[in-house]
Amino acid sequence: MKKILVLHTGGTISMSATASGALQPNAENPLMAQDDLQGLFDHKLQLITEEIFNLPSPHMTPQRMLALRDRILRGEREEGIDGVVITHGTDTLEETAYFLDLTLPSTIPVVVTGAMRGANEIGSDGLYNFQSAVWTAYSDEARGKGVLVVMNDEVHTARFVTKTHTTNVATFRTPTFGPIGLISKHHVNFFQELIQQTVCDIDHVINGVYLLKAFAGMDGDLFSAVDLPTTHGIVIEALGAGNLPPETLPAIRQLLAHHIPIVLVSRCFNGIAEDVYDYAGGGVELKKMGIIFCRGLNGQKARIKLLVALSNGKQGDELRHYVNNAVS
Ligand code: ASP
Repeated sequence: MKKILVLHTGGTISMSATASGALQPNAENPLMAQDDLQGLFDHKLQLITEEIFNLPSPHMTPQRMLALRDRILRGEREEGIDGVVITHGTDTLEETAYFLDLTLPSTIPVVVTGAMRGANEIGSDGLYNFQSAVWTAYSDEARGKGVLVVMNDEVHTARFVTKTHTTNVATFRTPTFGPIGLISKHHVNFFQELIQQTVCDIDHVINGVYLLKAFAGMDGDLFSAVDLPTTHGIVIEALGAGNLPPETLPAIRQLLAHHIPIVLVSRCFNGIAEDVYDYAGGGVELKKMGIIFCRGLNGQKARIKLLVALSNGKQGDELRHYVNNAVS
């Protein structure tokens, strides 16, 4: 008998369409009533189901992510759970999944899923994705692989998966490496191993960590606007291989002079930001200025990593090393 903790948090998977087609939250997630999965698992499955939140995922916050982490830890330490399934809105799903990946010491499977269509819509994918997520959390092979995202018959790592389409059910992709597993009719099939990463233990989360996206003609105004005593860190989605318009540099120098850590990723959805170009605003100059290059993460995940690192009290070289490496 395996005990799986199911935590519903809201999102489209919990919503229904009105007569006009607008999606609205239900008073309770329709999946709360899903006890009929037992038969599929030969009655060797016990689901402990809770609606920890009922929120659209744009309402998710790092504080709520931490509450989710704490609930999972309690399940592991006091209730002997063998795996976790979290249902979540898809808009910020990758951020919650990555937050948990960085902060959970678990080796039990932790699987996050959602849906692109409401519970009563034609071709609704919620129940199917939920069932796939339970299969994955139940599988012995899912242990020790970090937090996983299961949608549309694919298993992705929280570390690299991203939402790529506004409405398509095949929205979750891992642009750099692809999924690490596929769900077939009767099995969860894994075909890649993950490099282990250290867990970052936190008991609170700080605010004031921002994400800014670079564009042609950008100047220093947005950077100056966040040059505040309440700002703890900034992630920049830079251009191409990791470059910025030179007009941004004076304001960025000011931020660095105020000891605000600045992390740089690329706004390209694929590839790694590096100090390749040696011209005004090029990566070589940005790195010399003290900007931390974060390798392989997208902007929203780099922001979660910076926020977690700062909440853990990391600074200086320790912060630089931790944020620089996608797998540290
Ligand atoms: N806006 C919804 C949410 O993130 C979309 C979804 O669940 O897919 O909650």
